[in-house]
Amino acid sequence: MAVNIILPPSSLSLWHTKKLIYSTQIRFRIMSSASKSQPQSVASSAVYQVPGLDSHEMDSTADKTFERYSSNTAKRNGKGVSIVWFRNDLRVLDNEALFKAWVSSQAVLPVYCIDPRLFQTTYYFGFPKTGALRAQFIIECLADLKKKLMKKGLNLLIQHGKPEDILPSLAKAFGAHTVYAHKETCSEELQVERSVARGLRQVELSPAQGNSSRSSSTHSPKLQLIWGSTLYHLDDLPFSVGSLPDVYTQFRKSVEAKCTIRGCIRLPTSLGPPPSVDDWGIIPSVEQLGLHSEKVVKGMRFLGGETAALSRVTEYFWNKDLLKIYKETRNGMLGPDYSTKFSPWLASGSLSPRFIYEEVKRYEKERLANDSTYWVLFELIWRDYFRFISIKYGNSFFHLGGPRKVEKRWHQDQKLFETWRNGCTGYPLIDANMKELSASGFMSNRGRQIVCSFLVRDMGIDWRMGAEWFETCLLDYDPCSNYGNWTYGAGVGNDPREDRYFSIPKQAQTYDPDGEHVAFWVPELLTLPKERRNFPGKSYIEQVVPLKFGSSNKHHSQRSKYGGRHSGLRNR
Ligand code: FAD
Repeated sequence: MAVNIILPPSSLSLWHTKKLIYSTQIRFRIMSSASKSQPQSVASSAVYQVPGLDSHEMDSTADKTFERYSSNTAKRNGKGVSIVWFRNDLRVLDNEALFKAWVSSQAVLPVYCIDPRLFQTTYYFGFPKTGALRAQFIIECLADLKKKLMKKGLNLLIQHGKPEDILPSLAKAFGAHTVYAHKETCSEELQVERSVARGLRQVELSPAQGNSSRSSSTHSPKLQLIWGSTLYHLDDLPFSVGSLPDVYTQFRKSVEAKCTIRGCIRLPTSLGPPPSVDDWGIIPSVEQLGLHSEKVVKGMRFLGGETAALSRVTEYFWNKDLLKIYKETRNGMLGPDYSTKFSPWLASGSLSPRFIYEEVKRYEKERLANDSTYWVLFELIWRDYFRFISIKYGNSFFHLGGPRKVEKRWHQDQKLFETWRNGCTGYPLIDANMKELSASGFMSNRGRQIVCSFLVRDMGIDWRMGAEWFETCLLDYDPCSNYGNWTYGAGVGNDPREDRYFSIPKQAQTYDPDGEHVAFWVPELLTLPKERRNFPGKSYIEQVVPLKFGSSNKHHSQRSKYGGRHSGLRNR
C-alpha cells in the first residue's frame, strides 16, 4: 500500500512543503518494507531499484522512445570508415557524434576504451578514482549501449588501454578517415583529447582511404570533437565563455532570453553495417577492473544504461506523474521519488539533457505546465552553467583557493575527515547522508549541501578532501558539477555572493522532521521518539566537533562557545 501524494496548490507554505516531502518518504518506507513482508518500519534493509520498472517494461519504453526519435530522412554521403569514440556519452538517442560518423562514411566503428587512468587514484588524496558502484554502473551502461548499437546494425568494440594508444592504431588498421567524439572541458579529459589528436596525426593513410575521391596524397585521420553534453549549445551562448557571467542568475536569465535549445538529433533506424571486426572484446567485470565488487543492500540501486535512463524519465514524468510536484518535493532526502534521479545517467551521457527538455515540453502540452515543470529545466541550467564555468576557470576549479583564489587556512586532519567519510561524526544528519553515499553511490542535493557545509565550516577541513571522496563514490560524478558545487559550498567559487552555512538543527527540523531519513541509515536511532532521532544527545555517539553556529540540541539551544554571529555567512 502506498500513501497517495496530494497535489499541493502552487503557493505552498513551508509546512505543506515539509508534509509533501515527508509523504514521499513514507511511501518509500511502505513500498520497501512491504516487499519484504516486514512490519512497516524505516529500518528495513530495503533496496529500491531506480527505475522501478521490470525489464520488459523498460525495453518496451525504450523501443517506443526510439521509434519516436528515428528518422530516415538524413542522407549518407561519405566514404570509407569512421570511428565513434564513446566517452561520457554512452547513448544512441541524440548522439551527434554517432550521427556525423554515419553521415560521413560507409561503415561506422563504435569504440569504447577502458582507460586504466580512470581506475587509479584521485589527484591530491589518493582515494580510488572510480569506486566499485560507479564502475558497476558504467559496466551496465556499456552493456546496454552495445545492445542498442546492435539493434541499429552496429556493435561496440571494447578495448582496454589509453585512447591515445588505441584510436590511432584502430584508425590505421581500418583506414578510418575521422574519429568523432564528444568534447569535454576539464584538464584530464582535454589532455587525452590532445594526445589522441597527436597520435592520429602520426598515422598515414593511403589516398584511397579518405572520404573524398579527390585526395591523391597520403593523409592522417582527423579527430572531430562535437559539443553535446548541455541543454544550451556552447556555440549558441550570447557571450563568449571568457565573459560568462559569474552569477548564475545572470547567466540563466540571459540564455533563457536569448538562446533556443536545439532539437534532439534523430538517427536513422539502421546505422549498419559496421566494418568487419574479428573480436569485439568483452565488457569487463568490476573485479577485472581491479576493484572489489559491492552490492547495494540498502537504499537506491540505480540501473546503468540508456534503457534505464529513458525508463526513468517515463516513470517519473508520465507513470508516476511526479513532474508536476517536483519543485515542492525536490528537497527531500529519502526514496526515489522526491527528485528526478536523472543525474547518474546524465553524467555517463546515457541521457541527453535535450531529450529531458523535449519531454518536459511534451508534458506541459499534454498534461500541465507549472513552476515544477519549469524547475527541472532551472536545475539543468545549473548543470550547464558549471560545465561552461569549468571552461572559463580551467584548473582553478580544482585548486584550494578555487576560481577566486581565496586564501584561507584549512586543516587536513585525517582522523576527523574519516569520521565524516565513514558517517561517525555524532550528528545523525551527517552520518546518515554519508552512509547513504557509501552504500548506494547517491546522496540528495540537500544532503550534499549539508555535508559539504559541515566539512568545510564546522570541521574546517580542506574542501578538496570532501570533493575527492565524492569523486570516488558518486554514481553521478562529473568534474564540472562536483567541483563547481564544492567550490561554491566552500566559499571559493566564482560567485562571491555564495557563502553559505547550513545549520544542522535547522536543516534536520525542516527536511527530516520525524527523523525518517536518519533512522533509515542509522537504525540504532529508530528506538528513539521521532522528534529525538536528529537530536539524540547521549543516546548516540559523541559529537566529534561542536557546531560553529548554534547548538545541535533543539531543546536547549544555547549559543555555542565556539560561535555567536554568522560572520557574514548565510545561515540556511
Ligand atoms: P534533480 O533535483 O532532479 O535535478 C535535475 C537535474 O538537474 C539533476 O539530475 C542535475 O543534472 C541537475 N542539477 C540539479 N542540481 C544541480 C546542481 N546543484 N549542480 C549541477 N546540476 C544540478 N551533480 C552531479 O550531477 N554530479 C556531481 O558530481 C555533483 N556533485 C555535487 C557536489 C555537491 C557538494 C553538491 C552540493 C551538489 C552536487 N551535484 C552534483 C548537484 C546535485 O546535488 C545533483 O545533481 C542532484 O542531487 C542529482 O539528483 P537528481 O538527479 O534527482 O536532481
